[in-house]
Amino acid sequence: MQISETVVRNVVQEVLRRLGADGSPAVPLPKGPDRATHVGRFGLFTDADQAVAAARDAFEQLSRRTIEDRRKVISHIRRIAIDQCVELGTMEMEETKIGRLEHKIEKIKTLGLMAPGVEFMRSEVFSGDHGLAVIEHAPFGVIGAVTPVTHSLPTITGNAISMIAAGNTVVFNPHPSGKKIAAEGVRRYNEAIYRDLGIDNLMCVIVEPTLETANTIFKHRDVALLCVTGGPGVARAAMQQAKRAIVAGPGNPPVVVDETADLDRAARSIIRGGAYDNNLLCIAEKQVFVVKEVFDAMMAAMERAGAVRLNAKEIEALTKAAIASVGQGEHKHDVPHKDFIGQDAAVLARAAGKSIPADVELIFGETGESNPFVPVEQMMPFLPFVVARDIDHAIEMAVRSEHGFRHTAIIHSHNVVHMTKMGKAVDTTLFIKNGPSMAGLGVGGEGYTSFSIAGPTGEGATTPLTFTRERRCSMIDNLRILGR
Ligand code: NAD
Repeated sequence: MQISETVVRNVVQEVLRRLGADGSPAVPLPKGPDRATHVGRFGLFTDADQAVAAARDAFEQLSRRTIEDRRKVISHIRRIAIDQCVELGTMEMEETKIGRLEHKIEKIKTLGLMAPGVEFMRSEVFSGDHGLAVIEHAPFGVIGAVTPVTHSLPTITGNAISMIAAGNTVVFNPHPSGKKIAAEGVRRYNEAIYRDLGIDNLMCVIVEPTLETANTIFKHRDVALLCVTGGPGVARAAMQQAKRAIVAGPGNPPVVVDETADLDRAARSIIRGGAYDNNLLCIAEKQVFVVKEVFDAMMAAMERAGAVRLNAKEIEALTKAAIASVGQGEHKHDVPHKDFIGQDAAVLARAAGKSIPADVELIFGETGESNPFVPVEQMMPFLPFVVARDIDHAIEMAVRSEHGFRHTAIIHSHNVVHMTKMGKAVDTTLFIKNGPSMAGLGVGGEGYTSFSIAGPTGEGATTPLTFTRERRCSMIDNLRILGR
């Protein structure tokens, strides 16, 4: 009988693992990466085919392990994300140069703490006259994932926890401007997992990611499922593939404030959500529609809460500097200028011809609906405030500005009829009332955190169950123990 190389490798690894479990030293690390098995690579690959092969191999090994082992794998990811968040967050800030350091640190820690893991797995059962049917949630295998520059390691951390909890392994093609922190995080996670459990490459990352490597992963026959998190380009590319894609696409979250709102609470919430990481979150408040009855009072509340107001001339100067036009003819559209994405409010204010203290988190001002800051997903801490005739007008403009992304919307109101009306009209995945946007992801609100919110393909804020396929096991005419 011929024994395959994979079987031998797995037996050796299992023996090594047991040695560790018996109290002897942890699994010894190989001297250098083993080219044949990919062990010792700790998930770092330049070649997409090799990365998929290693992730496939890791999947075979994970499939033979217990749920408890998956829990241990995830506890290593959580521990590193939490304990090393300051170092990792600082590295992410230094590499990407967008956002705010304290939030870069906090985001990695938050995903470590709150990304849904094994505890989200469940099975369903149908029990009746003809016996039992059990629905179980099985892994797909290797998942191909694309991650954004706005939160490189946080997205990887959350994706890895949920995907592995469901029994999958994953190959990441990160944004090129966040590739170093992606590789460093993946290396640390894999090394800790390998030392404890003897499986390497549960997460693989392409260290020099390009559109070509993304394409290789998209089309690879051993990649069973795609999960992309990013803007319109990657969302379109993923949906054109001949395999299932979970698409966490762009947003442009509108905020509505009506005459019944607690304006000071609304102002504090808008600043907390809209200024967080300099407005880089896809769920972050991007434009605000206020009914005319309380417009002036709302602007005053924003100033009381610490935001700095720009006048019309300053807004005009900022718009010229921070919004660019791209494309030709019918494809011509406005986009945020790269130099201003994720920059501090003080930097934006300077471009508007105003000097403000460095610790101001958010600037804002009155604009018309046609100002480009309203339709554009600006990802910078300037929020346009538009006056609305009444609640219907506010909701109408909010819906228009959201572009049908079905991502996130926020209302500040104590009128349930207004809330209901807006919820129905805007039809978004997340709808938050009387709090900052991140409360919709469990940070200061109820629920769990995920940085991949799949609007276009409908899975919502992803959990381990998002990355599973249903399998049914039926027992006919027996095992129902009820009745006589
Ligand atoms: P981006 O679209 O520029 O890049 C996202 C990722 O996609 C990167 O890794 C990039 O290299 C890759 N990519 C881009 N075009 C591609 C293509 N044609 N084929 C394959 N890969 C491609 O976005 P970004 O600036 O990194 O991130 C910000 C965007 O992501 C915003 O639009 C934001 O709303 C969105 N986002 C959405 C969610 C969500 O959960 N829905 C979460 C975070 C960010």
